[in-house]
Amino acid sequence: MAVVTLLGVAQDGGRPQPGCKRQCCQGLTEKDRRSPVSLGIETSKGMTLLVEATRDLGRQLRLIENPSIDHLLITHAHLGHVDGLGLFGRETMSARNIQLHCSPSMQALVEATPAWNQLLKQNVFEFSAFPRVEIDDVVIEFIQVPHRAELSDMHAIIIRGETSSILFLPDHDTWDETLSAYRCNSVRGFLEKFDIDVALLDGTFWSGGELKGRDMSVVPHPTVEESLRRLGHRRDGDPEIFFIHLNHTNPLYNSDSDESKQLRESGWSIGFESQEFIL
Ligand SMILES: [Zn+2]
Ligand SMILES: [Zn+2]
Ligand SMILES: [Zn+2]
Repeated sequence: MAVVTLLGVAQDGGRPQPGCKRQCCQGLTEKDRRSPVSLGIETSKGMTLLVEATRDLGRQLRLIENPSIDHLLITHAHLGHVDGLGLFGRETMSARNIQLHCSPSMQALVEATPAWNQLLKQNVFEFSAFPRVEIDDVVIEFIQVPHRAELSDMHAIIIRGETSSILFLPDHDTWDETLSAYRCNSVRGFLEKFDIDVALLDGTFWSGGELKGRDMSVVPHPTVEESLRRLGHRRDGDPEIFFIHLNHTNPLYNSDSDESKQLRESGWSIGFESQEFIL
């Protein structure tokens, strides 16, 4: 059986966020630190796949058994999902022939970005299958979701194993747009359509008031409050849902907050680093 490990639960900036002087990042210790979202996937035959390349790769790879990466999957080009690409190069891991799975729009950006193009020329990365990837007992599907696309488009990733399936949807703009792109009326209908057992969903912000002094429409995400409104309480037969990609301001980082209580009472959870899912 394949094993998926959650290697990070933070939004792109990580926790603490550089330069944040607000309460949320004051007095945090090493154990409160969180890395940007990423997944490690180990197949039953010992291949290792990594989803996203974050700057915290060194810290994150200690959470999986075999940290030698064979395949890298990238959802989109925003900072925290790609800022570790250079770590695969000569200055650090000196990797060779890593199979890179990403959309044509992301591929074009890799080719057009000098520091990343150099990694192609040095055979660190080799573009590989997309949008469907089959490796040992794991099948990966990329599905496009609407998300601000200044640099590249955005694809959620579905990982299917022998017995169950995981959806990795760390970023999207709105539920209305994502659901209508797949002609679904509800979040449940969307998860059912793709036959999802475990959903790792965009939990960037708890509510709309979180970025005091900043226009939140610049960084659109469905709030967890809205997702809970759409989902209601967990029912028999529902998939498991874990919110990830939490912004440093998100009150869900505090397990004693009213928001955390509300989430627990609804029957849903947040993901935690080193959390494992057996496929
Ligand atoms: Zn992100
Ligand atoms: Zn903060
Ligand atoms: Zn993004």
